[in-house]
Amino acid sequence: MTKLKTTMDIYKLLDHSNCRECGEKACLAFAAGVFKGKRQLAECPRLDPSIIEKYTGNIQKAQSIEEDMADKVVALKEKIQSIDLSEAAFRLGGRFSEGRLNFRIFGKEFGVDPAGRFYTEIHVNPWLMIPVLYYIVEGGGTPASGQWAPFRELKGGMIRNPLFQQRCEKPLKHLADEYTDFFKDLLDIFDGRQVDNLFDSDISIVLQFLPLVPMLVCYWKPDEGLESTLNLFFDATAADNLDIDSLYTLVAGFVHMFEKIAARHGVK
Ligand code: SF4
Repeated sequence: MTKLKTTMDIYKLLDHSNCRECGEKACLAFAAGVFKGKRQLAECPRLDPSIIEKYTGNIQKAQSIEEDMADKVVALKEKIQSIDLSEAAFRLGGRFSEGRLNFRIFGKEFGVDPAGRFYTEIHVNPWLMIPVLYYIVEGGGTPASGQWAPFRELKGGMIRNPLFQQRCEKPLKHLADEYTDFFKDLLDIFDGRQVDNLFDSDISIVLQFLPLVPMLVCYWKPDEGLESTLNLFFDATAADNLDIDSLYTLVAGFVHMFEKIAARHGVK
């Protein structure tokens, strides 16, 4: 029988009502509790008994995030060995030289060799390695359309949107509110490009995460007692070049990196 291998596998079985009858604030929190072994599927009163019977005892033991990511890196590095990097450079908007695929990520030069090794001046962690390797192995090479879409409208985005809001948009809004150099750093450190104020925002900046995967940051300042708002948008073709989990990983890694920068300036 198919095992439930992730929090998302469990979340998909729930009704997403966030009714709180299980004592958790949301279905996603309940799913995470079940995956960690702290809750039982049967504790959701809205779950069909046949589903409970089918999957109880069929939930794969949770690995730590680090173990899970390390496994993904190994699997992608195996796959990259069968990829023609010169073809991938052509397909993905990169350059091929000295046996490596080279492109710019966040405005920094990166090289990747046929063994999946990275060559760059910045520290590379699995949050960055996984999306970049996935982009090379599976990226469809679809050019950006110029049409912006929120994360939830991308293929597979709706179900992951609560996590994306919690781990990506919410902390970035906090940084935009509290860290005075937030927009300057987006432009200077991450090679952002200020564009016309899209969606009536006060500030709009495009970051070129990967050659064919731009992200738009829109920020609305607080106004007449209303809180500020920060929303992230992606080119409507993003899911052709990066699967939704890799896109989430890339943005969450970027947010984590930015939080460290802000922390050095006293922003918690
Ligand atoms: S009881 Fe079930 S449906 Fe309600 S919040 Fe908990 S997991 Fe979601």
